[in-house]
Amino acid sequence: MKRFKETLQARGLKPTYPRLRILEYLGKHEDHPTVEMIYEGLIRQIPTISKTTIYNTLNAFLEKGIIQAITITGTETRYDLRNLPHHHLLCKRCGKIIDIDIHCPYADQRKIDGHQIEERHGYFKGICRECLKKRGKR
Ligand SMILES: [Zn+2]
Ligand SMILES: [Zn+2]
Repeated sequence: MKRFKETLQARGLKPTYPRLRILEYLGKHEDHPTVEMIYEGLIRQIPTISKTTIYNTLNAFLEKGIIQAITITGTETRYDLRNLPHHHLLCKRCGKIIDIDIHCPYADQRKIDGHQIEERHGYFKGICRECLKKRGKR
């Protein structure tokens, strides 16, 4: 919690209880949750929390560069506490979004072909390791 408190203060956001709990949730769940998933995960501990609060909080985090948004599925936004550029794999079978740590030669470039680059997203789609294993056993 202390780490998250410092993260918020460093970016000029008040470390309110819901903000801290949402950050903590993202820190514990590296499966890139949606607003729904975060809501389901927190509603028992914070009965007053709403999806709107979570949505607005995530947007404030995005603006401050604390988290990043992943739109790999095309139908929903998933949130990631790792805010440095990294690639993602979407498993077409189980729907999991998994971090792929490869070095991308464009990851640190601020300009490409004269264009100013502000965001970088690397998406892969396929079948994840776990699903391949399961298929092998059948
Ligand atoms: Zn899978
Ligand atoms: Zn990620």
